This record gives sequence, C-alpha cells and structure tokens, in this order.
Amino acid sequence: MSFIKKIYARQIFDSRGNPTIEVDVVTTEGVIGSSSVPSGASRGKYEAVELRDNGMDYFGKGVIKAIGYINGILCNELVGTSVFKQNFIDQYLIQKDDTPNKNKLGSNALLGVSLAIAKAASNTMGVPLYKYLGGINASILPVPMINIINGGMHSYSPISFQEFMIVPIKFNSFSMALKAGIEIFQQLKNILQKRKLSTSVGDEGGFAPNFKSIEDVLDTIVQAIEETGYKLKEQIMLALDCAASEFYKEGLYDYTIFEGIRGSKLTTEQQVEYLANLCYRYPIQSIEDGMDQNDWVGWKKLTNKIGSKVQLVGDDLFVTNTKFLEKGISEGIANSILVKVNQIGTLTETMKTINKAQDAGYTTVISHRSGETEDHIISDLSVAFNTGQIKTGSVSRSDRMAKYNQLLRIEEKLGKFSSFPQWKTFRGRVNK
Ligand code: PGA
Ligand code: ZN
Repeated sequence: MSFIKKIYARQIFDSRGNPTIEVDVVTTEGVIGSSSVPSGASRGKYEAVELRDNGMDYFGKGVIKAIGYINGILCNELVGTSVFKQNFIDQYLIQKDDTPNKNKLGSNALLGVSLAIAKAASNTMGVPLYKYLGGINASILPVPMINIINGGMHSYSPISFQEFMIVPIKFNSFSMALKAGIEIFQQLKNILQKRKLSTSVGDEGGFAPNFKSIEDVLDTIVQAIEETGYKLKEQIMLALDCAASEFYKEGLYDYTIFEGIRGSKLTTEQQVEYLANLCYRYPIQSIEDGMDQNDWVGWKKLTNKIGSKVQLVGDDLFVTNTKFLEKGISEGIANSILVKVNQIGTLTETMKTINKAQDAGYTTVISHRSGETEDHIISDLSVAFNTGQIKTGSVSRSDRMAKYNQLLRIEEKLGKFSSFPQWKTFRGRVNK
C-alpha cells in the first residue's frame, strides 16, 4: 500500500501564457505523481466549469482560488488515502464539489488532483501510466488527426471552421503515419511561402494564413498531400472540426463573421447540405461539431444524411458527459465522441464515457485543448483506453509535439506488441 502524504498545487502557465494548475501528489514512500490542467477556447456550453479568480491579475484568469482548495480542504481530507483508490478518490472529489457542472471547487482543481493520483499510483508500481490503467489490453496506438490549418477561435485567419486536419490512416505503424503527417505539413509550408501567405501558426500549431475560402484551404491541403507523394483516399484522408457553435447566431450558421462578404448565413438545412457537398467533393473522413451544440434537430438531419459514410464527432454536443452521450445514442445522433478530460473533470468519469461510447459502437477520439502544457497524459490515456484516435494539434510547438513524442516512446516500449488500427478505427465508415 502507498498512501497520500501530501497534495500540493502551484500556478503554472499554459501554451497561451494563461495561468493553470500543476498538482503534485506525494506518497508516504516518497513517490511523486504530477499533472497539469489544459484549457479550451471554444468551450462547450455544458462543460464542467474551470474556476478562475476573476481578479485584477492575469485579466481575471488567475487560479489561486482553485489552488487554495487543493492545498487546503482536498489535501487535508485525502491525506492517508491509498493512491490506488482512484475510483474512491474521484467519487470523493465529485461529492465534495456537489454541483452538476463542478463550479464550486472547479473542474481544474478536481482534474489536477484526479490525474496526479493516477500518476502517483503508476509511479509507485514502477509501470508506465498506459500500462497501469490499461493492463495487457493497452497495445493499440491511435490514428492521429493532425490539425495543420487553424481557423475559428484559434487564430486570426479569416476562416470560419476551426480545424482542418489530415488523417494518415493506411500505414503500418503510428510512427510511419506521423512521418507522413510531418512531411505533408512541411510541404504545406513550402506551398504557402510560394503563394506569399503567412506561415505563422495558430493556437494549436497549424498555419493560419489569409485563405480565400474553405475550399481554398482544402485544395491547398490536397496539393500538399499530392506533392509529398502520399496517396489521397488510399493513405491519407481529411477531417474537419467546424466548431459550429462558435458561428451559430440567431438560428443561422453565420459565415459572414470571419469571411466578410464572401460568406453567407445558412439555415440548418443549408448547413447540412453544405457539409454533405464538401464530403462529396473532398475525401473527408470525419467532421466534428458540424452543427451547433443545441441544434439537435440539425445533428439528426446531418447524421441521417451522411452518418453512414462519415464519422460525425460530438465535442461541444456531448462534452465528454454520459448524460448527453446517452441522449445522442438513444436518438441516433452522431456516431463518435470527442473525449476531453477537463470537460468532465475526473479520470473515472472520462473512462465511463469512453466505455459507454464504445459499447454503443460510437468511435472515440481523445483530445487535447487549445491551451495545453507539456503534460502528455492524453497519449497514455489513448493507449490505455483503446480510443483508436487522437486529436492533438499540428506537428509543431512543443505543447503539441509532447503528445506525439510520448506516443513514439509508447510504441517503442510496446515493440512488436503494438498495433496501429488503420481503417478499423473508423468502424467501416469510409468516405471514399
Ligand atoms: P478548444 O478547441 O480546446 O479551444 O475548445 C478544441 C476543439 O474544439 O476540439
Ligand atoms: Zn472541437
């Protein structure tokens, strides 16, 4: 047995320079488990709430209050508990907060503790986190969705959709898939330079130039794939995160906000048609948040229209919460869920959501947030829980690369026991 001797939180800073929390759990044997908390910009309305100080410092974004809860009440009451009681500790955290959206102690306070406990437990056992959580089942490396163009809330690029991703699928290993993604990213840079477009990057490390339109982005990505020598449709597919809740205004999908006179305002039906048309013209394998988080009718229409061929991922729609996911499953809405640990606030709740989705035949995509730290826990979680897919930004900037690099280490450690799921992870939904 190994018991909690101390829980200590400090304020650190994320990839956007905003304050966040790092938690150390120290055991009676002197082992330390540390974790830090990510933060989103295009947050779902029903996500668990991160507690901010709203004071004078850091434009109100300080996290001193949340840190106070960790170093005070949570530390005092958890001291002496076994670090192997993850479920018990997470239940304690949920009950201590006792609000539906964790707004009392803050999801950032709860998550920091929950994840650091798991790290302390795996460090005590002397095994990697993916192995501690996943046991001998933990052998599948995820297919990465690599976000090479950043629009929406993640950059000043005048593009309504937030993320344009390449999905290297038909490769024998994660490392070969990543290599393809990196080469395409470098070639894309060359193309942008030739067109005299900016190669500075957005919040998730993807380029954010002044493209003419959504189609211009997609055409340019296709050009980069082809010029690199990889085979579109056979090896590489495309994916989008529209993050449509961010431009859904007064019942319409408002493309004028970012795209000025080029854009227009679409009704729900027109938005469904537009997305279906994009999938017809481009090899798009996956669309996340194609509809607004409250437009369940629109989501149903989109699922009926293209859900048998295209992976439809609910992010703001499901917010990693079994309550919303159950509604989606029972109504036949979407066919995939984005999993973000800080949307729900504890490790056990995250695990339950993944299990529920997988039981219902929904695919699972573990995800970073746009505000990240060097913590690469989601890489371990993706392997431990067999999510099959990961979304962790572009292949630049260390806050993003930390996750890819950790997956390379895991792949190396697993050696011949590792596998890469290729098309299987999309459960037969192939938009060819
Ligand atoms: P966020 O964006 O972390 O800013 O919410 C990521 C996403 O929408 O998937
Ligand atoms: Zn999203």
